[in-house]
Amino acid sequence: MPMSSSSEPVTDDHPETPDIDGAYPRLSAEQIALLDRFGTRREVSAQSTLFCEGDRECDFFVVLAGKVAVVQETDEGLRLIAVHGPGRFLGDLSLLTGQTMYLTAIAQEDVEVLDVPFEGLKDAVTEDAGLGDLILRAFIARRTLHLGVGAGLRILGSKFSADTRRIREFVSRNRIPHKWIDVEEDREAEAILTRLGIAPEKTPVVIHKGTRVLHNPSNVRLAELLGLRESASGSTYDVVVVGAGPAGLAAAVYAASEGLDVVVLDAVATGGQAATSSRIENYLGFPAGVSGGELADRAMIQARRFGSEFTIPGEAASLEFTEGCHVLRLADGAELCAHAVVLATGATYRRLEVPGLEHLEASSVYYAATETEAQLCRGDPVTVVGGGNSAGQAAVFLSKRASEVHLVIRHHDLDRDMSRYLADRISRAPQIRVWRQSEVAELRGDDALESVFIRRLDSDERQTVDTTALFVLIGAVPHTSWLKDQIPLDEHGFVLTGGPTGSGMLETGCPGIFAAGDVRSGSVKRVASAVGEGAIAVRLVHEYLGDGSRR
Ligand SMILES: Cc1cc2nc3c(=O)[nH]c(=O)nc-3n(C[C@H](O)[C@H](O)[C@H](O)COP(=O)(O)OP(=O)(O)OC[C@H]3O[C@@H](n4cnc5c(N)ncnc54)[C@H](O)[C@@H]3O)c2cc1C
Repeated sequence: MPMSSSSEPVTDDHPETPDIDGAYPRLSAEQIALLDRFGTRREVSAQSTLFCEGDRECDFFVVLAGKVAVVQETDEGLRLIAVHGPGRFLGDLSLLTGQTMYLTAIAQEDVEVLDVPFEGLKDAVTEDAGLGDLILRAFIARRTLHLGVGAGLRILGSKFSADTRRIREFVSRNRIPHKWIDVEEDREAEAILTRLGIAPEKTPVVIHKGTRVLHNPSNVRLAELLGLRESASGSTYDVVVVGAGPAGLAAAVYAASEGLDVVVLDAVATGGQAATSSRIENYLGFPAGVSGGELADRAMIQARRFGSEFTIPGEAASLEFTEGCHVLRLADGAELCAHAVVLATGATYRRLEVPGLEHLEASSVYYAATETEAQLCRGDPVTVVGGGNSAGQAAVFLSKRASEVHLVIRHHDLDRDMSRYLADRISRAPQIRVWRQSEVAELRGDDALESVFIRRLDSDERQTVDTTALFVLIGAVPHTSWLKDQIPLDEHGFVLTGGPTGSGMLETGCPGIFAAGDVRSGSVKRVASAVGEGAIAVRLVHEYLGDGSRR
């Protein structure tokens, strides 16, 4: 039935899927009447497809009569995901993010649909913001459901392979629904490899449209497949934003909404560090908290709506000023020109320098605790290192999945560097054991982590603790190595702004180059402050561009 894991033929006897978590709402007669003004009514015969996995820039379809099945293509046939009847609409977040569709819609019987081109949908939701909100909420809920059931791509590979991990990380960080099948452990893997004639040593592979196999694709190839990479227009932009975390996304929204030509680059995905947080509880306006991924998706859709372009992956490798213009060279050799630059490259995590880390890092050490990592250590004991909010959040989150969580902090007081509410939650959680004045001194295991040595700093006493995953959340270093010698940095590598080298709050020592968010020296490492700085940076870009003589 709907969301079934088996492959089922698409026949007309599948009942409509019930509305789950607001994912499948029914439009009112008034909402359909509004959309009718922007679309065309069409008869579609049974078994015809309305859109297919891999399609891009699809129309928005409302079912007016009959039923439409949404399916996943697999090498064994079609897997039913949902069935929609009159008043329901099709599609998912990909329609708004510009990504390719990862599911296929097939008429179960002769149906009538309202076919609304994307531009028409934009006009309709401008007239009725409530309709826009309903569609966006439904699309976000669908994406969550699809992530949960592993709809979309299949990734076959070993958990010990660095490339498998790279592919999974890239796809997960971009919040693309997929299913990872471990060739070491999942029985399903052997059957799929045999059916598709793939030798196990040729993994990792990515399978799309059921049977199309990509062998160890690069992130750029995956981005092309998934529709993440918009080709930069080639013209000179008003502003290029480097980094699509909260600071970069805010800069993109404000710049594009104020009429600037803007392109946003990110080496990995939108959302930055924030998108690796399972729940941000202190961001203004979200009393129940918001997942970092949802915040990033909403912001990206908003920025795109105002006309901002995104290039992902797009890793900035160098920056220079030539012929009155800032030229950014990307790691893949592409070049972009802009009158102004907002640096919002954030920071990367600090690693532990202990025996065993290098050998076990790829298989068992994590620098974020999201659903993806939690799935890997279900029912196992895990260790979290760090005394700040990230470590605290990770310990609380993992305690719901792991059998036991060991939280290792170097000092004595849990609430010294951690918000009080988190410290209280940890103290109340029976599954979390806090190791005070301690550090992880060694990692042990052959192919995967089996235990860690925890050393007490005051007595040098060592204890072995069984653990299958180590979460290291001990702060970050700025992502500025590519800027060395070009922009003034502080002694830790963060970008200096204001003061003797820059005249204003976010101005660097170089005219037209601004820094916002965690990458900036002295910044407050919070989502809200990064967003605020992104907005302020755009104001400064306007002042710099002035009357237009620099454009
Ligand atoms: C697990 C976790 C939980 C957190 N929870 C909270 C919370 O609850 N509340 C809160 O306020 N804060 C929280 N934070 C902190 C918050 O997420 C950060 O302060 C915020 O994300 C900083 O935003 P930013 O845009 O400055 O940088 P980042 O979020 O670090 O984003 C920088 C982006 O730049 C990209 N990039 C780097 N180098 C390049 C390059 N050369 N070219 C192109 N792109 C590049 C990166 O890929 C990244 O996407 C949390 C952080 C983590 C890790």
